Amino acid sequence: MAEFELIQDYFSGLSQPDSQVVLGVGDDCALLQPPAGKRLAMTMDTLIAGRHFLSADHPSGIGYKSLAVNLSDLAAMGAQPAWALLSISLPQIDHSWLEAFVSGFVTLMREQGVQLVGGDTCQGALSITWQLTGFIEPGQEMRRSAARPGDAIYVTGTLGDAALALEMKRAGQDPGELEQRLTRPVPRVEEGRRLGAAGVRSCIDISDGLVADLGHICKQSGCAARVHLNRLPVSPRVRQYLQEGGDFRPVVAGGDDYELCFTASPDSVAHLQDMPVTRIGEILPGEGVELLDGSGNALPLPPAWEHFAS
Ligand code: ADP
Ligand code: MG
Repeated sequence: MAEFELIQDYFSGLSQPDSQVVLGVGDDCALLQPPAGKRLAMTMDTLIAGRHFLSADHPSGIGYKSLAVNLSDLAAMGAQPAWALLSISLPQIDHSWLEAFVSGFVTLMREQGVQLVGGDTCQGALSITWQLTGFIEPGQEMRRSAARPGDAIYVTGTLGDAALALEMKRAGQDPGELEQRLTRPVPRVEEGRRLGAAGVRSCIDISDGLVADLGHICKQSGCAARVHLNRLPVSPRVRQYLQEGGDFRPVVAGGDDYELCFTASPDSVAHLQDMPVTRIGEILPGEGVELLDGSGNALPLPPAWEHFAS
């Protein structure tokens, strides 16, 4: 594999030397200078063909989503994205695939101010690993362990769009505008930073469904959550699906939403009115997530939604 040319052609032009990127792609290591006083937030995710996506999926979509889901983890911490490492394993050199793959993530990368400072390239089954580093003001990070009884629970955006889109595709239907929510999730980076700066201390991004991810906050914080089904924010398309008798599982357990779920005292987020945020419940003493219907009756918790196309 002409690995050197491949790196040169596709990956070496995606950083600019500056006061922080002392040395990018091309040497044995990147050399990076963190800004004084900032903490580094680091995250890594691997996406494997046949498990997290299909080899036949459009490469630009794979490029976009693989970066977006990692940015979503930085968003959930309240970090400002800065640097990326990309490890890619490819069955063969396919230039049109590589071009489309890079074009899929490069716009998002620039929009978020991320520099690709290094990585690894090898031959093997198709798989993609991103490692991202972000900056964070000490004390402004949002942890899964920091929810407290008395906090209200909030989510950004709408829930269930991606899961319903996948459901429709599997049933041979056209998901229409919902498809974008599945293939091009927009990481809530700006919202995450504003929440962290506003004093929100507990947050998670919703990748495995609201119930499962809020469950992580409860477990790590040693408390319980009560969620009101009829307060959950849904798009017009999902509302229609529910009104037609659709199962609510895609909304509470669907996954792939990449919205933020956070807990805070209502006072601390009162001034964030311009953000798409909905209050959906409250943190209580105890353990586990409880889901209530409009009459206050507990609903059975759905098992984690199966969301891998396998
Ligand atoms: P080494 O053998 O020292 O690991 P490589 O040939 O793997 O060197 O990498 C050469 C340079 O190219 C390094 O700076 C590395 O970080 C960078 N690089 C390799 N693959 C990628 C990639 N997929 N994306 C970005 N940079 C890469
Ligand atoms: Mg290497």
